[in-house]
Amino acid sequence: MMTVGASMQTRTKTLFVDGNWAEPDEGGSFTLIDPSTEAQMARVSLGSAADVDRAVGAARRAFATFGRSSVQYRSDLLTRISEVFTARSEELVSTLSMELGAPLTYAREFHVPHAGLHFKNARDVLTSYQWETAVGGALHVREPIGVCGLITAWNWPLMLITSKLAYAIAAGCTVVLKPSEYTPFSAILLMEVLEEAGVPPGVVNLVVGDGQSVGNAIAAHPDIDMVTFTGSTRAGVHVAQSAAPSVKRVHLELGGKSPNIILPDADLDLAIPKGVLRAFVNSGQACIAPTRMFVPRELSDRVAELAKQTAESIVTGAPGGDGVQLGPLINQAQFDRVQSYIESGIDEGATLVAGGLGRPSGLDRGYFVKPTVFADVAHEMRISQEEIFGPVLSIINYDTVEQAIEMANDSPYGLGAYVHSGDMARAREVATQLRAGRVYINLAASDTVNPFGGYEQSGNGRENGVHGFEEYLELKAILGYESNSNPEQ
Ligand code: NDP
Repeated sequence: MMTVGASMQTRTKTLFVDGNWAEPDEGGSFTLIDPSTEAQMARVSLGSAADVDRAVGAARRAFATFGRSSVQYRSDLLTRISEVFTARSEELVSTLSMELGAPLTYAREFHVPHAGLHFKNARDVLTSYQWETAVGGALHVREPIGVCGLITAWNWPLMLITSKLAYAIAAGCTVVLKPSEYTPFSAILLMEVLEEAGVPPGVVNLVVGDGQSVGNAIAAHPDIDMVTFTGSTRAGVHVAQSAAPSVKRVHLELGGKSPNIILPDADLDLAIPKGVLRAFVNSGQACIAPTRMFVPRELSDRVAELAKQTAESIVTGAPGGDGVQLGPLINQAQFDRVQSYIESGIDEGATLVAGGLGRPSGLDRGYFVKPTVFADVAHEMRISQEEIFGPVLSIINYDTVEQAIEMANDSPYGLGAYVHSGDMARAREVATQLRAGRVYINLAASDTVNPFGGYEQSGNGRENGVHGFEEYLELKAILGYESNSNPEQ
């Protein structure tokens, strides 16, 4: 496996099918660029639709036995996976940090441990789950849905996979996984973890490839029963369209533009720095980041000053650097996209409070972006409406709380929402009016237990806990189950 700073490496065996590593037959290759230096750092072979076919065949065969395995067996398996995952966590940290450009400390303290928690959480749900319920004379039975296609984005390379994979395994499903080709190495390492933990051949299969060929082949495959996708709303729509002819279940975790309403009685010295840092988490490459901050107009100068101080105190740099809080963006396309949003904020007349165009001083290579704050942003501006996916915060003034709620809800997205207040009753009241799958009061810590998913164009379905688990189940009603009469007699 690769380590940070290693010279260019090539990985050709990027298919893990039926418990064996193999090279794709066709599909070309992809060169990974180090986000901190822009130097080529690795090359991986890409699979094709034919490889998806092989992987689906293996998953289908494995489902015949794994789908009927006992709860005890799968619970023990999840425990072993969790143990091996923990034992190999430093390898996972360095690999993830290398391919994503995430600061090592953040990879160690957040990315990897949170990804690992999903195995424990899924096991806990599995062992307490009631699979059968008698209703009248009928029996309602839950069963694994079958073969699941998993397609994931690069921004949380492990977490996005494990939040699906752990629950699919718990349910007794088998899997064909396509990670983002920008972050294939953490997925490859995860397969090694599964192998070491004794996951039977064919239960989890990996095809590294791009969205157009491998992703699309998974979504469209007639022998895949469910596709679960995390990525942009644009690609999610394609996935749903490709999946429609085979009438498979489609679970979508898509984009966001989460509002953060600062109520007039909030402690600004606490709420603003925390709100800014939360918006910039993972270099702003977070679907649920609170990137629209709504503030009372009369407090806007004080808010802007606090936001500026926080943004300017953030240390940006390469993953291994001392005290680095913010790494680069993943690639040139993301860098260009974020720069163009900063330009549009300036052009549309928002007040640039911190950051701006170009790289932070001292960094002349790499996809580094200045932590950027705009104040006096109008609700209609692009930087207020569209997902930027970089460290750019828009502060929007409001005159009444009702107006703030209205603007917060006036978005095509509905993944997260935040409210900050010194008065819990008031915060709860506002929380109930926000149209989002997750609402955080006073920047409560994010977790891997409560449901995660979106309203509107942020997706459908939920991950985590019992709700996440049930996405991977079918429901069968057996009528006449309790009847003593034999109609043949
Ligand atoms: P993309 O939608 O571009 O890609 C996501 C995954 O889908 C990648 O593996 C991609 O492959 C694949 N893909 C792309 N097009 C298709 C297609 N037509 N059919 C099948 N698969 C396809 O998103 P990004 O990777 O750029 O990730 C950023 C987005 O993800 C943001 O919008 C963010 O909000 C969202 N996201 C949502 C989360 C949530 O839980 N709601 C969590 C994290 C991110 P390829 O790389 O080859 O294009």
